[in-house]
Amino acid sequence: MSDLLATPVKPLTAHSALIGASFDRVCDPIEKIVLDMGYEVRRETARMEVDIPLGQVIFDADGAQTRVQFSSPTPPQLQMLKDLYARRFESLGLAAGIKWAKEQQGGMPLNQVGCTIADVTRLSPGFARLRLQGGFSMFAQSGAGLHFRFLLGPEGAAMPSLDENGLTFWPGGQEAWHRPVFTVRQLGKDADWMDVDIALHDGGRTTQWVAAVQPGDQVALSGPSGSKLPTAERLVLLGDETAMPVMMNIMDNMPKTAEITAALALRHPDDMQDPRRSDIAVAHCDMADEDALLTKLAQHLETDRGAYVFFAAEKTQAARAREMIKAAGWPASAARAAGYWGK
Ligand SMILES: Cc1cc2nc3c(=O)[nH]c(=O)nc-3n(C[C@H](O)[C@H](O)[C@H](O)COP(=O)(O)OP(=O)(O)OC[C@H]3O[C@@H](n4cnc5c(N)ncnc54)[C@H](O)[C@@H]3O)c2cc1C
Repeated sequence: MSDLLATPVKPLTAHSALIGASFDRVCDPIEKIVLDMGYEVRRETARMEVDIPLGQVIFDADGAQTRVQFSSPTPPQLQMLKDLYARRFESLGLAAGIKWAKEQQGGMPLNQVGCTIADVTRLSPGFARLRLQGGFSMFAQSGAGLHFRFLLGPEGAAMPSLDENGLTFWPGGQEAWHRPVFTVRQLGKDADWMDVDIALHDGGRTTQWVAAVQPGDQVALSGPSGSKLPTAERLVLLGDETAMPVMMNIMDNMPKTAEITAALALRHPDDMQDPRRSDIAVAHCDMADEDALLTKLAQHLETDRGAYVFFAAEKTQAARAREMIKAAGWPASAARAAGYWGK
């Protein structure tokens, strides 16, 4: 597991449910899923504790039933944890006999922010920037994820809301929603606006939406989620255009003492942005050359032992990057290679 994703669990909020099935019937498959994903499980005769980056889930035997309690450091993480487990219980055939405690009903899911489009700017040949106005205080907390999902629903659908069990209700069904992942490029000082930079590409549903969107339009997003600001003192950042927002965010928000080397693969040289720090020179290569970033990665794996390596690009490139990082004997905690989009 990446250290970027590891969240120390300090439960702030807790919700619970009672499942109408025995402890072993519930915990055997859940334990397997969690262990397969590389996370920790502590299991005794009548109690199981699961720790994942979103929070902690505790299962206790309760006669012929099983009590389950969810706790997370923040309300958005709690919502994601509950929704994740509700889907998991359903896929394991456990949903029919479940009673959710009524801690939270109605209104918006705890990880959802309703926003207004304040501005749409064409930044460069391949990029548009949206300024969103809304309550982004959760994104401003230290240790918050750098990412979110736009919630683009079917024509005329209402925004997702909470059902009577405190779970996210998706009008038209969850599959009908396009939920692409994007990155906070910049957050206002009072967390009342956020900029997001969007790489425009043919056939992209977000590209089509951005072409039609007008100041004053409403949109919802869910977050914060995903990787946080790294903590390393020395970093190598390598990414394609979809990773430019996260790399710029990292370069702009890491302490000035952090030593950063960066390279971006772009379709258009004119898309290149400048980090605020003038001492960081960002190298450029052509995104059409699928080996360009990997060649740079190979060089850094030779020369930058001890640095934290971040790599994000098309998913087959990310898979190759993971193999190279492993083959170089790089500690897993000092690298992350993520697929940001797929062909
Ligand atoms: C953690 C994370 C953070 C991200 N942050 C950003 C960000 O801040 N800005 C950003 O622009 N992207 C970002 N991305 C990438 C973005 O989520 C994907 O590109 C996503 O597919 C965009 O959705 P869409 O609606 O534009 O395309 P879709 O409608 O989902 O895709 C349509 C087609 O376009 C292709 N496609 C998707 N993305 C691209 C692309 N970039 N270039 C060429 N073809 C593509 C797909 O293969 C698909 O066939 C991020 C991804 C991740 C995982």
